[in-house]
Amino acid sequence: MDEDEVPTSWCPSGEAHAPEAVVLGVRSGQDGAVVYLADPVPASRVLGEVPEGVDPRRILRFASHCVSGCVNRRGDDCTLVERVLAKPPAGAAGVPRCHLRTRCQWWSQSGVDACRRCPAVSTRHRADDELAELIADPATTREQLDAWIAAEAG
Ligand code: SF4
Repeated sequence: MDEDEVPTSWCPSGEAHAPEAVVLGVRSGQDGAVVYLADPVPASRVLGEVPEGVDPRRILRFASHCVSGCVNRRGDDCTLVERVLAKPPAGAAGVPRCHLRTRCQWWSQSGVDACRRCPAVSTRHRADDELAELIADPATTREQLDAWIAAEAG
């Protein structure tokens, strides 16, 4: 981020070690869906509790400033949430209670459509999760994602 850049929005798939980072939620259950914290907790307060050798993003989701140098930025937009939207929401997913909403880039850009998919997003996904790899890759087009999902659906 430039020195004089004042962030107006936050990334809900953010950097754990950014100075301003907060814990957005905890990944839980078999599917690792995020359970959102009622209030933000500074990431610096919990990172020391994560066992050595475990990537904190495997068990927690962090929010940090949305920065102009991010590989997912296109102008003021986040292309990551555009790719996240390609994946249908899990089941009858509702809109989670979330402390980040008033500051969230994904919410301001895509509203409830982003929130319905947000719990399933893993900032640090498994290497064999091909769809998550495609979604994370800024080079992936919406057409490629739609084709992949259609092929999987048979
Ligand atoms: S997309 Fe919705 S649920 Fe996810 S962090 Fe933003 S406001 Fe919260």
